[in-house]
Amino acid sequence: MSILSSVLSELKELFFPARCAVCKEPLTAEEQTLCTLCRATAPLTGYEREPYNPLVAKFEGLVPIERASVMLFFRQGSGWQQLIHDFKYHASWRTARDMGRWYGHRLAESGWYSDVDLIIPMPLHALKQLHRGYNQATYLAEGMGLSMGVKVHRRAVKRSRNTSAQARTPLHSRAANVEGAFVVRDADALRGKHLLVVDDVLTTGSTVAELCLAILEAVPDCRISVAVLAASRASLGVE
Ligand SMILES: [Zn+2]
Repeated sequence: MSILSSVLSELKELFFPARCAVCKEPLTAEEQTLCTLCRATAPLTGYEREPYNPLVAKFEGLVPIERASVMLFFRQGSGWQQLIHDFKYHASWRTARDMGRWYGHRLAESGWYSDVDLIIPMPLHALKQLHRGYNQATYLAEGMGLSMGVKVHRRAVKRSRNTSAQARTPLHSRAANVEGAFVVRDADALRGKHLLVVDDVLTTGSTVAELCLAILEAVPDCRISVAVLAASRASLGVE
């Protein structure tokens, strides 16, 4: 590092110290993305250790899946909701990748995801990705891949229709809204594999279910598990 760039980075540290993505307190040199307190008090679900959990129950009868997990519960207005909002809308791709690394460690430690062959991030429609500049689910997936030692296939599936934001769509029309929204474009790479579909937030679960169904239709001999970073208790039917 040149003297100038090291001076510049020290100045940046001085004026814009890295802050915790949840509580916004300055981070110490040993902390990354989250402070020690937020990490220790994270609203973890522990679902990765429960083969039968509320997310698995949600997919029951909708789509055949091997395993499903959510890492965090989030509440409206909480720092954790802000973190997820930020990595969607404020280019915090590094935060998404770091959260993915953490989640990947938890899945690996649980022992229930050790036979996953390939990670598939939930695709964004090309226009939306162009507008946002990146797909946050891809960075989440990359972080998970790093800590699980599993490859990520970014282009296996594409979103063929620009479905309107699920949050603004009335519940009853959500299922119809995602129908036919995905196209598998690299079926060969998925054959016979155990896939892990990754998304950042669970709303109704219908988008994830539709993606899994599209993959199973194109590649009947693959197996699919699902890993979502965060969901509200209400969306999982637990209070
Ligand atoms: Zn914090």
